[in-house]
Amino acid sequence: MSGRVRALRGFPDIGPADTPAWLALEAAVQQVLLRYGYAQVRMPVLEATELFARSVGEATDIVEKEMFSFVDRDKNAMSLRPEGTASAVRLGIDGGLLRNAQSRLWYTGPMFRHERPQAGRYRQFHQVGVENFGTAGALADIEVIAIARDLLQAAGVLGAVTLEINTLGSATARAAYRDQLQQWLRAHADALDEDSRQRIERNPLRVLDSKNPQTQAALADAPRLADSLDEESRAHYAAVLEGLAALDIAWVENPRLVRGLDYYNHCVFEWTTQQLGAQGTVLAGGRYDGLVEQLGGGPVPACGFAMGCERVLLLQQALDCVPQAAPVDVYVCHEGGQGRLQALRLAQTLRQAGWQVLVDGGDGRLKGQIKRAATARARIVSKDEHADFTLLDAQAPAALSEHLQALCPAGAATPS
Ligand code: ATP
Ligand code: MG
Repeated sequence: MSGRVRALRGFPDIGPADTPAWLALEAAVQQVLLRYGYAQVRMPVLEATELFARSVGEATDIVEKEMFSFVDRDKNAMSLRPEGTASAVRLGIDGGLLRNAQSRLWYTGPMFRHERPQAGRYRQFHQVGVENFGTAGALADIEVIAIARDLLQAAGVLGAVTLEINTLGSATARAAYRDQLQQWLRAHADALDEDSRQRIERNPLRVLDSKNPQTQAALADAPRLADSLDEESRAHYAAVLEGLAALDIAWVENPRLVRGLDYYNHCVFEWTTQQLGAQGTVLAGGRYDGLVEQLGGGPVPACGFAMGCERVLLLQQALDCVPQAAPVDVYVCHEGGQGRLQALRLAQTLRQAGWQVLVDGGDGRLKGQIKRAATARARIVSKDEHADFTLLDAQAPAALSEHLQALCPAGAATPS
């Protein structure tokens, strides 16, 4: 067999032109989460299929249509994780982190969903997830939303996103509303699109989320969740909004926001943008008080969110604020022979002082090397054997010029 083996559809490579933006995002994320005192956890990418069926929900798009599931050689049913919350809860339960404790965890890594690949939608994509366990009160919701705001700000995209928020109410209020809505939907099934009709029996709340304009119009008269909220649900929601106002976080209430996963209750939210077409949700989350118990842990209240890294990076592109690789500080040229060793020594001294240094790999003529230095966007070219150098970039830090001047006294510390 000959010919190239190609990457799988929807599994994009991340090449050297893209990694500077990824590294910058990851560094910003680490810094923000350190400030909030969240501990990083790392879960496996493969889990028992049952974990997702029992948490995300049998009747959700993710479990019904999107999981990469298979039976391994030992006949165990397993799935590549489509999201991180279920795994993080499992990790928390297994590690005894959730018993009578306030636990603040975060993770990042690839997730896998069998979706139709398009801009902003891939089969392998990356999330940053934040989970707050053990706090029933609104402080936890406010904290995770504030983290989300800080992450989007650190990524430079806050100006292009809107916080949409809603409450699903307590588990009891949500269940009562679910029945009420279901009855209404059965009576008005004719006015709905095919997908939505399918959802009436299996996942009626999801109908509210429909992107179909005809369905949205029909839903105008549907019973509203807000009308069936109990006192506890109203108080929790009001406390969250009060906290957001205190932190100057603006929001838009979206009574149709329900989220696609089964485990949410009370406050749910999404940060959305107009800049990415249909893939406009950049970050999404909410409270999921029942999930830990559902997965075999105790009654532990929890809330959190996941941010889609690719969508944040696409938004940076749309806003023209993609972080660039740092320029090379010094490019050392040499003409072979003894010059090679001198070049290595000079590079080592400079690197130990913290500068980024490239040494030309060839023994060729200086002219070619200097061209390569320019391609590498080097700030300074240093020519070893004459102990001289030329400053290419007037913006080079003064400390670097001074350092080079000391090492190569014959150099020219002014741009040529
Ligand atoms: P969508 O409505 O866009 O399908 P979702 O509700 O399925 O999103 P979540 O499960 O809440 O998404 O995941 C959180 C975030 O992860 C999303 O807001 C999005 O930014 C990102 N995300 C989800 N699916 C994909 C995907 N297939 N490719 C890239 N990013 C994704
Ligand atoms: Mg989806």
